[in-house]
Amino acid sequence: MKIEYTLRVLDEFTCLGGDCPDNCCTDWEIPVNQEIYDKWKSLPEGEEKQRILNSVAITNQDGQQVIMLAQDPENRCVNLNSDGLCSIYAHLGPDYLGTICREYPRVSRETETKRVNTASLSCPEIARLVISADTSRTPLFTTPSAAQANALYAPDEASFISDFLDTWMSGTLAQRKYPLNVRIYYLADILCRLATLSAQGAFDPAAMRKICKEYKQELFSINLAVKNRKFRPDPFVAGSFWKFIYQAGQRLFKLNENSNEARSGLITTLASLTDELENQYHKIYEEICAHRQRARPMIRDFDSGFENYLTALFKYNGFPWYPTEGNYVATFVRCIIPFALTQLILWVKVGEGERLIPQTIWDAIYKVERTVGHGPGIYKELGENITLLRLDKYCACLLDIY
Ligand code: SF4
Repeated sequence: MKIEYTLRVLDEFTCLGGDCPDNCCTDWEIPVNQEIYDKWKSLPEGEEKQRILNSVAITNQDGQQVIMLAQDPENRCVNLNSDGLCSIYAHLGPDYLGTICREYPRVSRETETKRVNTASLSCPEIARLVISADTSRTPLFTTPSAAQANALYAPDEASFISDFLDTWMSGTLAQRKYPLNVRIYYLADILCRLATLSAQGAFDPAAMRKICKEYKQELFSINLAVKNRKFRPDPFVAGSFWKFIYQAGQRLFKLNENSNEARSGLITTLASLTDELENQYHKIYEEICAHRQRARPMIRDFDSGFENYLTALFKYNGFPWYPTEGNYVATFVRCIIPFALTQLILWVKVGEGERLIPQTIWDAIYKVERTVGHGPGIYKELGENITLLRLDKYCACLLDIY
């Protein structure tokens, strides 16, 4: 028996179609599965069939046939009509859409013990629904009944560990009396301790339980230390962390010189720093703190929205219930980067005098998810900047992430 988690707002989702501010048929390379291509080939002879078959580009990659929807010179799927609607859907209905087109933004993933039905935050409507969901009484995802949870069996140690950590992570995020940055820091700190145990060959389920057991007490202590300003990130490390976040965003999000983000003082400061002198990292951190401080009162109006965003990010990317290649730290960092970049962009917007309204928030989220969060980009980035996988070195920087 599998425990099933479903993103509740999926029930409310309806594709915005021609009203979508940034539809998913533009800028993305969209594969067509063989089954649907064969279905197109079996259509009655005629103009429609020819038009659809002409809308794909077929290549050979490593001996495998790859079928992709062709794009026009503006990177729009050639099947997108002038009303912003799909002409295959309009003429033949949903049964003739390729799997990705039919299912996006919905995604289902499963392990031996769990199945998660969620959706990509790269869709503006999903981002809006997630941010706006009232989770004060009902969690963002359906949760298993006690009977289901008790019936859960863990067939092997790896499943037991991921199930245990998933419950621990949800329990930590549910401690809403502590600020979100404190909860994020705590998660990161425990992951570092577990990684150290693992590196020493001393990791086992009993040690894991022991480390995760006192989470309420630990959250209390961290929060107190932060409040009393006894615990702060090291300015040098924090400066380099935020510079990385900016640079990763610049590469992945393609921030360019003409964008609002680039024109802001913060981005100019970051962009102009090309060497790695200590006093410059201090300077970056000073700028970050000033921007964050200015934006904080407005950002705090959206506490539950950001908590929903983080919860959805974790579930979508498998943290900690289905870690990529079994690596919990990498999966966590993969979620933290877009979250941090979204904050950075919003701080900059406030710095430019923009008022944060719900639309500004979901707009920033879906754009970050559409570019930075989509595909294997972040893992590639982590492969090239492996210092980011040394979470223990910059764990305290996550206190500023929200
Ligand atoms: S991005 Fe979302 S709302 Fe927009 S067209 Fe695609 S599925 Fe519909």
